[in-house]
Amino acid sequence: MITVADLWIRLDALASPLPGERAPLVSAQDRILREPILAPEDQPPFDRSAIDGYLVHADQPAGLVTLEGTIPPGSPAPAAAPAPGTAVRILTGSALPPENAALIMQEDTKATDTGRIHLLQSPSAKHIRRRASQARAGDTLLSPGQILNAGALALLASVGATTPLVSRRARVAHLVTGGELTAPDAAPTAGQIRDSNSTLIAALLRDSHAGLVFHQRVSDSRAATADALAAALATSPDILLVSGGASVGDHDHTGALLAAQGFTIHCDKVASRPGKPFIAASRDGCLAFGLPGNPLSHFVCFHLFVRRVLARLAGTEPVALIRARLAPRAELRPDPRETWWPCIWADEGATRRVLPLPWRDSSDLTVLATTEGLLRVPATTGAGAEVEVLPCR
Ligand code: AMP
Ligand code: MG
Repeated sequence: MITVADLWIRLDALASPLPGERAPLVSAQDRILREPILAPEDQPPFDRSAIDGYLVHADQPAGLVTLEGTIPPGSPAPAAAPAPGTAVRILTGSALPPENAALIMQEDTKATDTGRIHLLQSPSAKHIRRRASQARAGDTLLSPGQILNAGALALLASVGATTPLVSRRARVAHLVTGGELTAPDAAPTAGQIRDSNSTLIAALLRDSHAGLVFHQRVSDSRAATADALAAALATSPDILLVSGGASVGDHDHTGALLAAQGFTIHCDKVASRPGKPFIAASRDGCLAFGLPGNPLSHFVCFHLFVRRVLARLAGTEPVALIRARLAPRAELRPDPRETWWPCIWADEGATRRVLPLPWRDSSDLTVLATTEGLLRVPATTGAGAEVEVLPCR
């Protein structure tokens, strides 16, 4: 049985970044930048005022000056600084002449009844926002791999990069197997349960640079599953997820059907608790995963493997494990398999610790709403004081 770490290595080799596409800023949020963004010109492109006040010549001392006009923000800078003895009204953002400028804040001046301005202090250059003080033309502002968060989007807007090259969202097809399942809005008959994995997967995909292009629930009949699998593959997904049916029972067809479709099966079990029956397969540009149907196993397998592959397809690094200290008195049963234990962060005084959450078994959905991470409990030995946590969003 392959270990989680070995399967990561294998999956990393199978998942290369999808080609990028240009997207307008409104739809680029949270996507991964795939090109460097260089400053097209100096930032800011001209000297600007950081204050409301007056522009004077750099040689102007404190004293009386005559007011000669205004530079409203948005109008071009004058070619030269005002002559000594005169001042020009400026506001925050006003463009300034490139040489011999000095500024004085409005609060450090007084208007006289003769219409002149009394400068109560010596003007200086300290309130000038200099051309190129943030970046020079050609400097790198953003690098490939950057997540386009609000700040990055604003930076793109400021330099007119309004259709950045970003990762294409991975196309994901999702097949949900199980004759016992009903839609969440249907009343289950005796022996049935509601399908929660479809909702889980759709929500996790929204956070993972992916879009659902196909979704279908099928019974456990092999023929029906084969038809649904063919229909899913006909949508040319980058990723095919099959929920349930990954094990060795009479109704577990995923492995055989993927093989029949020409997929290479890379593993059918992984040494992880929960999440042992787990199929990873590939064919041309498509990666297929058979996930165990139990909801907690689903959650763990998604975070361990599917989210990792989606990050690689998007051209970014997978979420890294965080080193952390276990809360004292936390009890973790050791197991022959490595365990990925739902946990939360807990503040103990000034120290941040990891607190394992109670969970009953791999069908236990009740723990998922509060889960903030998956705590890695090494096989056999159990956890020491120092642990690793895979953060979950
Ligand atoms: P399976 O992996 O198909 O053997 O399913 C394992 C367990 O997970 C069974 O008890 C299923 O009823 C349950 N299960 C399978 N699929 C779902 C689903 N979509 N939503 C909720 N539970 C499921
Ligand atoms: Mg099943």
